[in-house]
Amino acid sequence: MINIVLFGKPGAGKGTQAEFLKGKYNLVHLSTGDIFRFNIKNETELGKLARTYMDKGDLVPDEVTIKMLQSEVEKNQDAAGFLFDGFPRTIAQAEALDVFLATKNDKITATVALEANDEILVARLLERGKTSGRPDDQDEEKIRNRYQEYNEKTAPLMDYYTKQNKFYAVDGIGSIADITERLSKVIDNL
Ligand code: AMP
Repeated sequence: MINIVLFGKPGAGKGTQAEFLKGKYNLVHLSTGDIFRFNIKNETELGKLARTYMDKGDLVPDEVTIKMLQSEVEKNQDAAGFLFDGFPRTIAQAEALDVFLATKNDKITATVALEANDEILVARLLERGKTSGRPDDQDEEKIRNRYQEYNEKTAPLMDYYTKQNKFYAVDGIGSIADITERLSKVIDNL
């Protein structure tokens, strides 16, 4: 099994790249943001709760997010591997994921980050907000808050995975195909 964490700031292109990588490597793509948005659309209890955080650009509490992610993994017993997109976003989530995968005699193979400059990303998100309909993409203050959440809570994961010798980074600026190629090079060499 190969389990990849796609890592990067909001707008770095994780979702776009996941669409290509999941087919290429036969991985189940789990995007916690997409799963939350699906729940919001369907007005589930989880969706109602998540929305109160997401609309402000805050992270959804760990307990809720971890439980949801674990249940999604359980639903895919036959998976050849997972592509985690937008999870983990805190040290507590990363630790919980390691413990959970270990109970299945499994582990994270690698974390691959898409690197890009903040100002480019903010502009990209505002542009995406014109068509995505996402409230958290339409307001610069909310976007900045998402970056603050990233810097405070998610950035420490780089160190967490580096210590496990599992952290790789590629330049996230360029054509979609070029970036898929850069990510593939990392994955092919694992
Ligand atoms: P994304 O689509 O990955 O940009 O996520 C959109 C929003 O969903 C984030 O700003 C958070 O509010 C929430 N979210 C997604 N993934 C997580 C996570 N792993 N932990 C906490 N909140 C999350």
